[in-house]
Amino acid sequence: MTDNSKIRVDGQRLWDSLMAMAAIGATDKGGCNRQALTDLDKQGRDLFVQWCRDAGCSVDIDSMGNIFARRPGSNPDLPPVLTGSHLDTQPTGGKFDGVYGVLAGLEVMRALNDAGIETAAPLEVAVWTNEEGARFSPAMIGSGVWSGNFEQDYAYARTDKEGKAFGDELQRIGYRGPTPARARPLTAAFEVHIEQGPILEAEEKQIGVLSGVQGMYWYDLTLTGQPCHAGPSPMEGRRDPFMALHRVLDRLYRLAEEFAPWARVTFGDIRAEPGSRNTVPEKLVLAVDLRHPEQEVLDEIDRRFREITAEIAADTGVEAEIRDEWRSPAVAFAPPCVEAVRAAVAELGYSNKEMVSGAGHDSVYVSRVAPTGMIFVPCEKGLSHNEAENAEPVDLEAGANVLLHAMLKMAND
Ligand SMILES: [Zn+2]
Repeated sequence: MTDNSKIRVDGQRLWDSLMAMAAIGATDKGGCNRQALTDLDKQGRDLFVQWCRDAGCSVDIDSMGNIFARRPGSNPDLPPVLTGSHLDTQPTGGKFDGVYGVLAGLEVMRALNDAGIETAAPLEVAVWTNEEGARFSPAMIGSGVWSGNFEQDYAYARTDKEGKAFGDELQRIGYRGPTPARARPLTAAFEVHIEQGPILEAEEKQIGVLSGVQGMYWYDLTLTGQPCHAGPSPMEGRRDPFMALHRVLDRLYRLAEEFAPWARVTFGDIRAEPGSRNTVPEKLVLAVDLRHPEQEVLDEIDRRFREITAEIAADTGVEAEIRDEWRSPAVAFAPPCVEAVRAAVAELGYSNKEMVSGAGHDSVYVSRVAPTGMIFVPCEKGLSHNEAENAEPVDLEAGANVLLHAMLKMAND
């Protein structure tokens, strides 16, 4: 048995790869716009695939465009230890969200190559398609179909704002692969990601050891009133969906306070119809996102949201309809994977904190079919989904080292 405890990733090589990937879709403000299944996404994927082949990995692409780069193990009967994340970004995204998890996985492969280490189980790096949900809703649809949470036909039929279908765009960029997108046995799965929140930085901890992920519910709330002229129509007697909306907003923000500090209430998008400056709109369609790490509390928040909306609708004479867009229950990660991360952090001597994720990740879906764990590193001011998203090279290196040792442990045990 060789002693693997001394092996480390090459932080500079990881950083250089991150910067090379960030050049594809780079924005003026230092961020990245590389949305799913665009030409830029294809360029990013092509670059990643080339890097993997250069590292001696075989590459498989499934029917959802998920990419799996595999480094063989000495025992082909063992299911692989997988790590992965996503390469797609928000329209005004950063250089690290998702990309870091993918390239840290690649760096693990490269570091093992340099050290001449063969693991017992094979290792794989996955790129999950359309994690962000920015171009095609819902988010995490690549890992979602793979893990059996969505039908592939449903995914293919999703359209972007221009009406282009997911399946057509996947075909167009040449990433509709021959392998059916379906879960297979895994020894373990890991994902390393920037925190996308301020906690690690504020507490000066280098590594977050994740025990789970917040539950999150997405809705479309449609408020329908009666359009009328902005001038001649008196304020009283209007059935103005905005009058209902401002009360809904107020009550839901107060609901978040009631379930502080972990409840999250977000309104990320709004559309007014017909959308004319001097007309009370007939219809408002609002995207609502509710989150909490405890399933029972999230269900209580969901119940109250419906109650509040019904009450205000009745009060204002506006019709309210809530459509469930997506539900992701709270997740608890697999104890052996959490323990492998904990052990790696202890062995490497990094400061750390046990926490839950406030954002959704592909690991949520992967965790339904395989033992899964996650690792966080700090990001500057907690900023993410923002062109100014930033992380320290030393922290990114530390997170990749934790990933390396957690994967080694699971691949050799
Ligand atoms: Zn991400």
